[in-house]
Amino acid sequence: MPTPLRTFPSGPAALAALAVLWRSGVVAWIERRDERAGLIPGLARVQLPLPTFFLHADPVDRPRAEAVLLEFDQLHSGGLASDADDQHPNLLLLDPGLAPPCPACAATLPMRADATACPACALPVDVVELIVLTHGPEALADAYDPVPILDDASAPFVPTRCRRCDYVLLGLITVGVCPECGEHFDKEDAVQAWFA
Ligand SMILES: [Zn+2]
Ligand SMILES: [Zn+2]
Repeated sequence: MPTPLRTFPSGPAALAALAVLWRSGVVAWIERRDERAGLIPGLARVQLPLPTFFLHADPVDRPRAEAVLLEFDQLHSGGLASDADDQHPNLLLLDPGLAPPCPACAATLPMRADATACPACALPVDVVELIVLTHGPEALADAYDPVPILDDASAPFVPTRCRRCDYVLLGLITVGVCPECGEHFDKEDAVQAWFA
């Protein structure tokens, strides 16, 4: 295996870098490895997290790829992971059993981050805060929609395939219908599923 350009512990981070390379015309690809040992000759003892995503580029394109990634690193230093912090949690994605009781009247509060008062007794409440107090901050982990990986600039370069006829959907934006068979496609869903 040639030396990878970059190694990523998370798929979305790897694909974000890949999309930037594709947009720059670099021939690049991701290799996913789910084993731990013997990945890189001479580095077999390195403990790599599972799974690991290796970003490769065609040797001809490698110098350009390095330059593009340097710029990418500066833009995204710590950026990908913190995107979720800017979103409001969607409490409807959580187990309804996590709905906290009103501290005053014990009525079950609605699973809505924007609710400001108990519907039963009108006490001001913060549902998100009450969930965190009761169940810990990790209870909110499932309340965030996945951070989008693709946008309309990168999606045309992402060659997902039509589910029905296997047509390669290169050059097409994130959501549409297959030009060969008319099947609906959603590239974002496809790449999110690949990394799940
Ligand atoms: Zn109440
Ligand atoms: Zn098709």
